[in-house]
Amino acid sequence: MSAPDRNRNLDLQWKILIGIVAGIIVGIIINTASGSGPEPKPISALKVCFEYGGEIFVRLLIMLIVPLVFASIFMAVVNLGDIRELGKIGLKTVVYYLATTALAVLVGILLVNFIHPGAGIDQKTLARLNINTKVPAEVIDQGVGERSSTIIIIDTFVNMIPKNPLAAMARGDILQVIFFSIFISIIAAMAGRDSETLIKAIHGLDKVMSEGIMVIMRIAPYCIFFLVAAIFIDLGLVALEALGKYALTVLLGLIIHAGISLPLLVIIFGRCNPLLLFKAVSPAILTAWSTASSAATLPLTMDCLHRRVGVEKKINNFVLPLGATVNMDGTALYESVAVIFIAELMGIHLTLGTQIIIFITATLAAIGAAAIPGAGLVTMGIVLTAAGLPLEGIGLILAIDRILDQFRTAVNVWGDTTAAVVIGRMENAISPNIQLRTKWEN
Ligand code: ASP
Repeated sequence: MSAPDRNRNLDLQWKILIGIVAGIIVGIIINTASGSGPEPKPISALKVCFEYGGEIFVRLLIMLIVPLVFASIFMAVVNLGDIRELGKIGLKTVVYYLATTALAVLVGILLVNFIHPGAGIDQKTLARLNINTKVPAEVIDQGVGERSSTIIIIDTFVNMIPKNPLAAMARGDILQVIFFSIFISIIAAMAGRDSETLIKAIHGLDKVMSEGIMVIMRIAPYCIFFLVAAIFIDLGLVALEALGKYALTVLLGLIIHAGISLPLLVIIFGRCNPLLLFKAVSPAILTAWSTASSAATLPLTMDCLHRRVGVEKKINNFVLPLGATVNMDGTALYESVAVIFIAELMGIHLTLGTQIIIFITATLAAIGAAAIPGAGLVTMGIVLTAAGLPLEGIGLILAIDRILDQFRTAVNVWGDTTAAVVIGRMENAISPNIQLRTKWEN
């Protein structure tokens, strides 16, 4: 990359932030201008253009995920050289992910019990707002209601093993791709010279995918503007007002977890300044907020951690793809708050036992949630059923799910980055030279 080119790419996070703010302003202006009646034609046309602008960006990122995850995990395992090392890193990663997710749920449950966001909104107010209580088809499709929550959760783990790896790749099932990649990379590492050509080819693929991310990020700020404007054109401000106390409870919980709990872990175990870390990974966090998808953000998260934080690839390439799919602190916190809020709204008293069930199932349901927009809402069906609450409750909070999804996804990705730093530090795998760089360079 030439010097002027490099300069143009400096401070990507600011460009993205400008794109987000401009998108919010333009979206709200159009939202207000279109009023509550049928949408005038020019506004619908504008909305479609914005949606396409955002869609192009998300598609480009998603296009890279499968080859990137496959190649990067493969290379991480092969480079570790020792399978016991993989086991050690794997164990630490799983413990960190489980512990932080459980911590997030705990924060959510304590907060919702303290604030009681569902108290004071009666059924008549809800009815006046026309909030419908239809259960989304995706929730029914999981088999919630027919199968027990335990079976659905066990299924998620068994389903990690793909019957057909190519079909898993074609479907974009990241957890299955991760399993396949780890499995064959272990075999390749054991095969010695026989696997040299294969390793070289996959190494090339890994490199090309990393370059691909750099190219896509050049258009990120513009596309994010379109993406955010399209979301805000559609935002249901009335519903936001009605469910404001609930939304604020979720946001407060997310702020406590992302701003206190996780930074403490970064300071104590990662031995680094969480503010500098946040600045270094902010392009990924902002992209997560805009796309509401940890999976779509994954290529960028990996790049930030490697280039700007200096965590070695052998850690990043393993910890981050796994984190994007199973580590969802924000989602777990949101699910626990939402379920208890729904119970309050419906006037159902929850015993301590039921709240413990919510604690356990919300942790597991978040692990099972896909890293795509709205996935947390879908797996919430598992928590509701386990707590003996009606699925119709989901309809009550549907209206403001997208905006909360953006915040919880940002926290999900932040959680993954803290894991990479903590585990990177434990494994002595953070380069001191380029640690916490905030410029976007090759
Ligand atoms: N959108 C979230 C993510 O991709 C999942 C969720 O819906 O909570 O991380």
